[in-house]
Amino acid sequence: CTTACSTSTEGKRQMSMQPLTLAMLSIHSSPIGELGTRDTGGMSVYVRQLALEMGRNGHQVDIFTHRRHESEPEVSGLGPNVRLVSLDTAPGRPLTKTELYACAGDTMAAIEAFRHRQDRAYDLIHSHYWISGHVGRMARARGLRPHVITFHTLGAVKADTGIGAAEPARRLAFERELVKDCQGLLAPCGGEKANLMHYYGADAARIAMVPGGVDVDHFRPMDKTRSRRRLGIDPRVGLLLSIGRLTPQKGQDRIINALACLGRDSRPHLMVVGGNGDGDPERRRLQERAARAGVQERVTFCGSVAHRDLPVYYAAADIIVLASHYESFGLVGLEALACGRAVVSTPVGVMAELARMQRPGIIAAEGSPVALAAGITIAGDRAPEWPDHLIRQSVRDYSWTNAAAAAQAAYRAAMRADAAVHGRQ
Ligand code: UDP
Repeated sequence: CTTACSTSTEGKRQMSMQPLTLAMLSIHSSPIGELGTRDTGGMSVYVRQLALEMGRNGHQVDIFTHRRHESEPEVSGLGPNVRLVSLDTAPGRPLTKTELYACAGDTMAAIEAFRHRQDRAYDLIHSHYWISGHVGRMARARGLRPHVITFHTLGAVKADTGIGAAEPARRLAFERELVKDCQGLLAPCGGEKANLMHYYGADAARIAMVPGGVDVDHFRPMDKTRSRRRLGIDPRVGLLLSIGRLTPQKGQDRIINALACLGRDSRPHLMVVGGNGDGDPERRRLQERAARAGVQERVTFCGSVAHRDLPVYYAAADIIVLASHYESFGLVGLEALACGRAVVSTPVGVMAELARMQRPGIIAAEGSPVALAAGITIAGDRAPEWPDHLIRQSVRDYSWTNAAAAAQAAYRAAMRADAAVHGRQ
């Protein structure tokens, strides 16, 4: 027994030390896509940052995505030990999510062909979003290694908000199946863990917490007046800022309505960052909303802004307003706080948790125009209590290093559980 026990302890120790070879599936959304546009937001940042951090820790990571343009190389290096593999499932043509779902078999075959060409064996597959989960599940069924998933949003929760286009029924059914048969579920915050349990009956013991993070070297406080000068913004106006993809779930219309409630004395302006540019139908809808509310001259739409250029936008603002109906996590809130700016947020995702912990710089407000306007007024009144450096402390636990450590622990746990069932080493 002594020999057998010590051998298995040694085996476990080696398993927890060895660098891993990981396949991350981010099929519908590229980790290097244009952030703030329709299907490219927090998930892309999360996948890229997590992979880069895992790569820096010595793990090998291949991120698989669908190739959108002929000009994209099949393989590109994103950083040490991290490669982006663009799969030619429909050469040179962007596909809708429905089409990508239908092409899952071809996507799987393309991954397998790549793997054989490269003589690569993966220790684990980490899918992001249900469409990748579909492919990851197929890979698992073909005998590939354990499959874990981060959903990034859950169809059932979106459907429950009743906002935006109806979710396809197959998405909900499929997410339920994935919850049941993948080897590990990764949730970014307690709210999403509760959602997985409530909507899909997930077993709490199978859910690992792997939060998002923020790069505090990039997102840091800067002088407000100088930032406004750079952006050509009047230093005297009150400035609210909304950053995010333009979609009804993000609730930009709620902020516009709140602006109308704030009209009389302060007359703040609202800058809206994100979206697909002038022709974006959601931008037109929001412009019409602003016109109906009589605040169109106080709302500016900037379109999407590159991640590297965002700190100056945060710094120029007085308050960042997040009015989402649902967030699985919500990176924008962390970025705003890291820049030392107060956030008024509906109680969703990580902002709900930070507000409950009474971290400086956060006011939770329900989504009605009156509640949001009241939250904005309170945040304005409390500004003298909240210097930049104090607000910034609110995000001290949320680094990508911590996120990668949590992911690594979740991967190892899934591998151990899988090895116990299948007798693998
Ligand atoms: N973002 C960006 N440019 C934009 C709009 C958004 O770089 O024009 C980034 C933003 O900084 C954040 C991410 O996109 O890192 C959005 O993530 P979040 O979790 O807030 O929202 P999601 O897209 O996941 O719904």
